[in-house]
Amino acid sequence: MLGSTAALAGSLLISIFSYWLFPLSFGLAFLIFLFGFIGNVIDTIIGAFYQLVYICQKCGIETEKKEHCHIQTTRIKGSPLVDNDMVNFLSGVLSAMLAILVIQLTS
Ligand SMILES: [Zn+2]
Repeated sequence: MLGSTAALAGSLLISIFSYWLFPLSFGLAFLIFLFGFIGNVIDTIIGAFYQLVYICQKCGIETEKKEHCHIQTTRIKGSPLVDNDMVNFLSGVLSAMLAILVIQLTS
């Protein structure tokens, strides 16, 4: 909830600055806002289903780190290739591709 509100506020802020700094139409500025937020939604979905999560066998904490409490952690879910950076990268790319598609289809 807090994350979604922050994402909404962040997207809004970026779209307002884009509209102010660049010669964009209102519609394009709105798409920046919309897909900024959609990127966050995609990020949440990929994160929930594919992001790598390890568990520490000693203290029981869930972490992204391969090591905790000076011992090796165990993978409990996610793909070994999908760490937090990969989730961020994929959600950014997917959101940008969707935005380009929408712009192509509507112009
Ligand atoms: Zn630990």
